[in-house]
Amino acid sequence: ASLDQIDRQEPKIHAFLDVDEKKVYARVKEVEEGIKAGRYRGPLAGVPIAVKDNICTKGQKTTCASKILGNFVPPYNASAVEKLNEAGMIVIGKTNMDEFAMGSTTETSAFGITHNPWNTNHVPGGSSGGSCAAVAAGEAFAALGSDTGGSIRQPSAYCGVTGIKPTYGTVSRYGLIAYASSLDQIGPVARDTADCAALLDVLMGYDPKDSTSMERKPEQFLDSLRGDLHGVRIGVPKEYLDLAENLDPDVKKAMVDTIHLLSRNGAIVEFFQLGMVDYVIPAYYIIASAEASSNLARFDGVKYGYRTPEADGLHDMYKKTRAEGFGEEVKRRILLGSFVLSSGYYDAYYLKALRAKALIKKSFDEAFYKYDMILAPASPTTAPEIGKSLQDPLKMYLSDIYTTAVNLAGLPGISVPVAMDSKGLPVGLQLVGNCFSEKKLLNAAYGLE
Ligand code: GLN
Repeated sequence: ASLDQIDRQEPKIHAFLDVDEKKVYARVKEVEEGIKAGRYRGPLAGVPIAVKDNICTKGQKTTCASKILGNFVPPYNASAVEKLNEAGMIVIGKTNMDEFAMGSTTETSAFGITHNPWNTNHVPGGSSGGSCAAVAAGEAFAALGSDTGGSIRQPSAYCGVTGIKPTYGTVSRYGLIAYASSLDQIGPVARDTADCAALLDVLMGYDPKDSTSMERKPEQFLDSLRGDLHGVRIGVPKEYLDLAENLDPDVKKAMVDTIHLLSRNGAIVEFFQLGMVDYVIPAYYIIASAEASSNLARFDGVKYGYRTPEADGLHDMYKKTRAEGFGEEVKRRILLGSFVLSSGYYDAYYLKALRAKALIKKSFDEAFYKYDMILAPASPTTAPEIGKSLQDPLKMYLSDIYTTAVNLAGLPGISVPVAMDSKGLPVGLQLVGNCFSEKKLLNAAYGLE
């Protein structure tokens, strides 16, 4: 059914970069036999899932939607993909994304744009736009995304699906092609909270192959879903609604309606001053670009990936390979990152950004003294029209205001669809919790559905 739906929808949506039907059918057979043999006990056996194309799949192309990795076939699976396999899930294909996960619209992909299934003139968001569009269009029952500064939560909001970015260290990053390693996390995208909970149960766990992997006890997220909002203390940062000049009236209305809904169901909702909000975007873009410039140094045309066909010596080969292989947005980040890390500027930019990061974390720590979770928009607007965002990259960066702080502080955040805007596009809001509070977040999100 998933493959049929892919045939029907892909000409309009282009959520996938690669679907290998032969591989899928072979895997279906294997899983059928496994189920008969009692090998899979969980609820996800046999369920088709899409995987973002920056997550390594053994024997299947993993391109990061970049020309430089256009023909890269990993010789191993990411640990997260191994977990899906152990649960008996069927990887149905690899999904489109912003090149190297840098972007908010899936328009920086080297292999074409993805369309929002609700209105194909609009973007699906990004960078996990392909994953979220695939779930929204019914092409897959769930998907893996990655979130460095909102890339699971924002496209989930734009596509009317549910996505969770777990606490940093909860899901192994082994085999996730790095963008900004101190911020990157893999997480599930699905039709609702229960499906996300089932997936997170499978995905989480300590992995010795990832040095920042956390030792956490299994939580049984799915079995503990109750949806009871009674007595849950929810804070709403005043600054988030004061950013009104950029906040779409439909998103603001969704915030107000949701606050009422939460209160009616017994939650205690309060406005408060979060602090440090103005420093979030500069700190995020400095740190993310700095780490990206270092992580992307490995793509040099030597070990794997694209190599320029003609070059005059080694340095010329490096230069041409990278000039031809990377897109404009990726180059912008590499330049910015190299600049803030260079001697003479390191203290003024990178070190300062790290200090801001610590203070941002502190303001969240203080908030979680008083509140169980924070309610926030996932994005200031609903999905923009195709072609509008890339004209003004700085404005696009500013639209990450509600999501990036969560990564800087290492916190979990879940994006849930709550309304439709006046144009018929979904509005999603975010619940953000303290580290390791996924159970609370999933419960509250379940109560909101
Ligand atoms: N839009 C943000 C960026 O471009 C976030 C991307 C992400 O989470 N991968 O960096």
